Amino acid sequence: MDPELLEKARNVNGFMPEDEGLALHAIAHHGAERGTIVEIGTWCGKSTLYLADAARAHGRQVVTIDHHRGSEENQPGWEHHDPTLVDEQAGRIDTLPHLRRNLVDAGREIEATITVIVGRSKQVATLFRPDTIGMVFIDGGHSEEEAQGDYEAWAPLIKDNGLLAVHDVFPDPKDGGQPPWHVVERALKSGAFEQVGHVGSLRVLERVGPGH
Ligand code: SAH
Ligand code: MG
Repeated sequence: MDPELLEKARNVNGFMPEDEGLALHAIAHHGAERGTIVEIGTWCGKSTLYLADAARAHGRQVVTIDHHRGSEENQPGWEHHDPTLVDEQAGRIDTLPHLRRNLVDAGREIEATITVIVGRSKQVATLFRPDTIGMVFIDGGHSEEEAQGDYEAWAPLIKDNGLLAVHDVFPDPKDGGQPPWHVVERALKSGAFEQVGHVGSLRVLERVGPGH
């Protein structure tokens, strides 16, 4: 990874530990060989920078999707609330201006590699054609409904041999919430995906067949 961009990624507000970010970057090289990279859950763009450094090397885009209002655990009173991200006028979290600033800071080339979509994951998925995406990285809402919904909406859009990466996967409930793990279990059980990588809470699967 470009050392200057890595230093910038380190300083972005977010939820991507460096070892997992570097693993994501390595896997994104394989994803970008296959096609466009889609990220669900931008927040302020930390993971996006790891993805974009790899996509840039292959002349591919990272399409990153978020409604920018934060997940449940980011709301006031919850564990991961950050009051500096609240838009006072709207009275709601708004991470979009922070993302935009971080992308400017990352430099023109990286900014031009990233397509920012403000919207709900499931709605945005309807705009893509099946079997077209090189890699999908799911790091959006962590409730069972949202995690499963992301899988259902995005898995069929991944091309054959394309990659599905899932963040915050904790098989043991002592370590964290279960929905992302349930998504991985479901993907493996479907026979449509096989696991090809695992670093910390990051799992990487490859699409090996139809169905999901
Ligand atoms: N990848 C980020 C962290 C993402 S946090 C990093 O590296 O730091 C999860 C994000 O998912 C939040 O920004 C939240 O707004 C977004 N999100 C949750 N549910 C969503 C949905 N249904 N559609 C779009 N974005 C969603
Ligand atoms: Mg995460």
